[in-house]
Amino acid sequence: MCNLCDDAQQEPLGRRKFLGLATALVGTAAFTLTAGILRADECAPFLADAQAASTPDQAVQFLVDGNARFSTGASLHCDLLGEMTATAEKQTPFACVLACIDSRSAPELVFDQQVGDIFVARVAGNVPTTEILGSFEYATKVAGAKAIVVLGHNHCGAVKGAVDRADVGANLTALLDEIEPAVAATPLVGERSSKNHEFVESVAETNVRFAVAAMTEKSAVLKELVETGAVKVVGALYDIETGKVTFLS
Ligand SMILES: [Zn+2]
Repeated sequence: MCNLCDDAQQEPLGRRKFLGLATALVGTAAFTLTAGILRADECAPFLADAQAASTPDQAVQFLVDGNARFSTGASLHCDLLGEMTATAEKQTPFACVLACIDSRSAPELVFDQQVGDIFVARVAGNVPTTEILGSFEYATKVAGAKAIVVLGHNHCGAVKGAVDRADVGANLTALLDEIEPAVAATPLVGERSSKNHEFVESVAETNVRFAVAAMTEKSAVLKELVETGAVKVVGALYDIETGKVTFLS
């Protein structure tokens, strides 16, 4: 068995975060959870029991709730070193996020998540490369994550570069070519230019929708997980001016 698989099968350490309709012990404190409470303690490490008990919809809701905290200045201040210790032997994140490399759109920050909570893959323009599809196959099929979020953002330099057909170097051009289908599929009003802000933001949304579709169109593993209801794939756009994430329908 591969090392990655071994890692996914190991037993958890430390405190456990329980979800759902159950009476649970978290540390030394007892909690009776109700349907309206998804996480008893947002700072408790997200361990195997929590992952097993959570649904794809709840996994997305954790991110919705986290962005609500971030965008209102209410981000948690957790014991990151404690979470590091608790998750060192095994990780059981609840979601995967594909995001742009933009320095302003770090998923752990904008979704206010902690050590061991989410898998993150980042590439300029949040395009679903073969390597990223493979990474998310591992994250879901092997490691048990319940949701995949493709997170685009406004004022994206990669999208602007694709719109402008920027020619900087062979590798960057190849990357921007991955966004070209979204540019071509987006209705154009006015000139094709990064100065056409409305068009740039429309392309960013199309690009996210294409990446969401690619998860199941280009991965048989993810397609099966989605069709059986084990995993949910959703698109979202992050506004770098307000800090708010809007999930696409
Ligand atoms: Zn970007």
